Amino acid sequence: VQKKDIKPEMIVHEGTITSFDNPLVKYINVKKNFGKLQVLKGIDLEVGYGEKLTIIGSSGSGKTTLIRMLMTLEKPSSGTIEIEGESLWTMTKNGKIVPADEAHLRKMRSKVGMVFQQYNLFPHMTVLDNCTIAPIKVKGVDPEEAKEQAIQMLKRVKMADKINYYPNQLSGGQKQRVAIARAVLMRPKILLLDEVTSALDPEMVGEVLNVLNEIAQEEKDMAMIFVTHELDFAREISDRIIFINEGYILEQGKPESILNDPKSERLQAFLSRFK
Ligand code: ADP
Repeated sequence: VQKKDIKPEMIVHEGTITSFDNPLVKYINVKKNFGKLQVLKGIDLEVGYGEKLTIIGSSGSGKTTLIRMLMTLEKPSSGTIEIEGESLWTMTKNGKIVPADEAHLRKMRSKVGMVFQQYNLFPHMTVLDNCTIAPIKVKGVDPEEAKEQAIQMLKRVKMADKINYYPNQLSGGQKQRVAIARAVLMRPKILLLDEVTSALDPEMVGEVLNVLNEIAQEEKDMAMIFVTHELDFAREISDRIIFINEGYILEQGKPESILNDPKSERLQAFLSRFK
């Protein structure tokens, strides 16, 4: 029996900025089904320039799907997603959602970077080449300049001594730090980080989180959206945390408030699992 779904009231903690005059990203009533499974039932969300946002919620609640749509890796079933006021998708006359034309998509995608759970480095290229190929080929950066920038960035992620290594000579944590450097070097307006430490051995999680923490603090103009279960990290780096539950954003607020004073039973139950 299909239960009629009623959109729950979103709980916004005091002092939380949830809308912007000029948002970087805007989801408007975004829904997503996979066949009969309704994963997202109506997401309204704005992200500001430079904002550091963390998405929390149970496994399978749609966090990855939500950010993959920004990368155009998933198509919404309905609703609108905008970056800098421009839609990623076009609605046709018969109500079908189709990608905008290739040139437009390419332009939109260049504003977004993503770091995945699995590092996705090019295995046949050195660390340095992994970091310079896209700036040179996609952005047209001068090769010497790209190399210089890559070396600087690899210093920041503490990988400067490994620039001539190949990915299979690196630990998981080292590969992930290279993947982070590579993504930041493309200078996206928004960087998506999807559970980037969850495939790592526990002893490597800290080094990756430390590097991310530094980048989050230094890259003031780059918005970052984290999907993570590392709540101490989220508390430290986030401007805002949103909690997704049963297809909706149920609660959002500043980290201290969300993590110390959850209002809904669902968020209380979710957080109690981490104690
Ligand atoms: P989370 O990131 O919160 O763990 P996901 O966005 O990965 O959640 O997945 C939400 C739900 O959608 C899960 O039940 C998952 O199995 C399902 N799902 C995700 N991607 C697909 C897909 N390509 N095809 C079918 N089901 C999918």
